[in-house]
This record gives sequence, C-alpha cells and structure tokens, in this order.
Amino acid sequence: RFAPSPTGFLHIGSVRTCLFNFLYAKKMGGDFVLRIEDTDKERSKPEFEEDIKQGLKWLGIIWDEGPDTNGKFGPYRQMDRLDIYEKYARQLLDQSHAYYCFCSEEELEAKKQEMVARGHAPIYDGKCSNISKEEAQQRIAAGEKAVIRFKTQNKVISFTDLIWGKVDFDASLFGDFVIAKDTRSPLYNFAAAVDDYLMEITHIVRGEEHLSNTPRQMMIQSALGFSHPQYAHLPLILGPDKTKLSKRHNAEPVGYYKQKGYLPQALNNFIAFLGWNPGTEREMFSMPELINEFSFERCRKSGSIF
Ligand code: GLU
Repeated sequence: RFAPSPTGFLHIGSVRTCLFNFLYAKKMGGDFVLRIEDTDKERSKPEFEEDIKQGLKWLGIIWDEGPDTNGKFGPYRQMDRLDIYEKYARQLLDQSHAYYCFCSEEELEAKKQEMVARGHAPIYDGKCSNISKEEAQQRIAAGEKAVIRFKTQNKVISFTDLIWGKVDFDASLFGDFVIAKDTRSPLYNFAAAVDDYLMEITHIVRGEEHLSNTPRQMMIQSALGFSHPQYAHLPLILGPDKTKLSKRHNAEPVGYYKQKGYLPQALNNFIAFLGWNPGTEREMFSMPELINEFSFERCRKSGSIF
C-alpha cells in the first residue's frame, strides 16, 4: 500500500515509494492499495489529495483499492475511519497497553531538558502510568486535558526488512510514546498499525525515514493481537550534494514535469532507477517490463542521487 498524507503536492520521493509498491504488487499478482492518511487536520488539504491522485493516474500507477473504488476494506481515508480507531484505542486502554497522560507540555519540556543535561535520551518517565483507570476516567470526564500513551515494553524488537535484512531495535529507548491525542484523534503510528492489519496489507514499502516507526507499529499490532506485515524501507533520495532531496535541488512536484512535457513513461523509468537497478546495462524499461524485472534483491540501502 501507498499511504500518503495529503499535506503537499505529489513529489518525486512519494512517486518512487508508490511506484515500488505498485511494481511489487503487480509482479506478485497482488492488489495495490492507496490509503489517504489525512489525520493531520491542520496540514491536510483536499487539493493535495487531488494532486496526488491526478499525478498517479497520469503516471499510470492505478490503485486497485483506495478512494473512489469500491474496495471491500474501505473507507480508505483515515478521517472516515475514526470509529475504528476509537474502538481500538479503548481496547488498548482497557487492557492497560495504553494509558492517559495528563502531563503538561511545560512539565514534559522541563523533564526533557533535565534528561538531556544528564546525558540521557529524552524519553517519557512513565509518571502517569501509575494513575488508576478510574481516576483517569474521572479526570477525562471532568474535562482535563490528556493524551494517550502506549506502554512500551523493555525488549528488543526484531524484524527482517526486505532490503535491510535483520533489524533490531531496543524498545526501551522509545519510552511510552503518544499514540493519540484522544480516542478520536489517532496519530500516525497507531492509525497506520490498525489500518495495515484491517486492510490485510501484506507488504509495506516506504522510505527509510520510517524505519524506526516500524518497531512502534509492530508493538501496537502485537498489543492488539494482530499479525505483522512485511516491510521494505527504501533508501533516501539525495541531491547531487548528497544531502536529502529538497526544493534546493530543483526537485519539483510531478505536475511540473508534466507541464514541461516530460512523458509519464520517461518519468517512471527514471524514478525506478532511484534505488533499484536491473543488474545489466539496459536503461529503458516500459511499465510492464519494470513489473517483470522488479525485485527487492536489486534495491540498495545507500542513498540514490536524483
Ligand atoms: N503517511 C505517512 C507518510 O506520508 C505514511 C508512511 C507509511 O507508509 O507508513 O509519510
């Protein structure tokens, strides 16, 4: 699945993520799912969702399930799924996998400064995990401000990434992280973990910047009794100066290339080579040929230069 947040125009990095998901799904005879992760109410805009969908259609990256389809795992916009997240947030709270945290931002900031000054990683100290469920409920009912934190277990989380191989994370370094602002305002890791399971996603292909989110999502899935999908984290896309690709490098949204007269076939072919290669000298591939040739074994871990 490709799960963009509609907080900006479709850019090259997103297309690469989307293309690799699509190529793999089609190669394996699977379905490709588009999910709109629009839970950031301030930054999400319908015009960005429209730009993403138009850009993908122009490129010929067509989703089998997603908005405007009648896929059986919908709705495919997260803001239309709040009842679902609410149910699972309550389950986590009831089963003590999560708890309400009433600490103020000032208090959290002061503690963070203190931990950094002592040379520790700034993680939450678990103060509110000692509040009883009854007391927490009363305080919520009385209108006190709170967030929902996941109770992290101190253990090592391992998984086998299709590109990176075996990856280990020491979960004790995460602390109890926030998964929702309230039962109807989920944050990314929580909503994604729930949806990936309910939508029966088998493979998640996304950028390397999400690598450390994976153990968090896996812990949430385990706490809910869900199985885990497989993960593939793609290397960063860099500018010629080897820093992360950005506006500075003249990387423009996809609509710009369309306007300039680039053909979608050319753009797909070019983007496919950002992190993948066929292992031969051949440089030109049509979409069916890319589908046929694509594999994670031929994806690399090191950054690709745009
Ligand atoms: N909405 C997230 C993003 O756009 C999705 C990451 C993921 O694929 O899990 O970065």
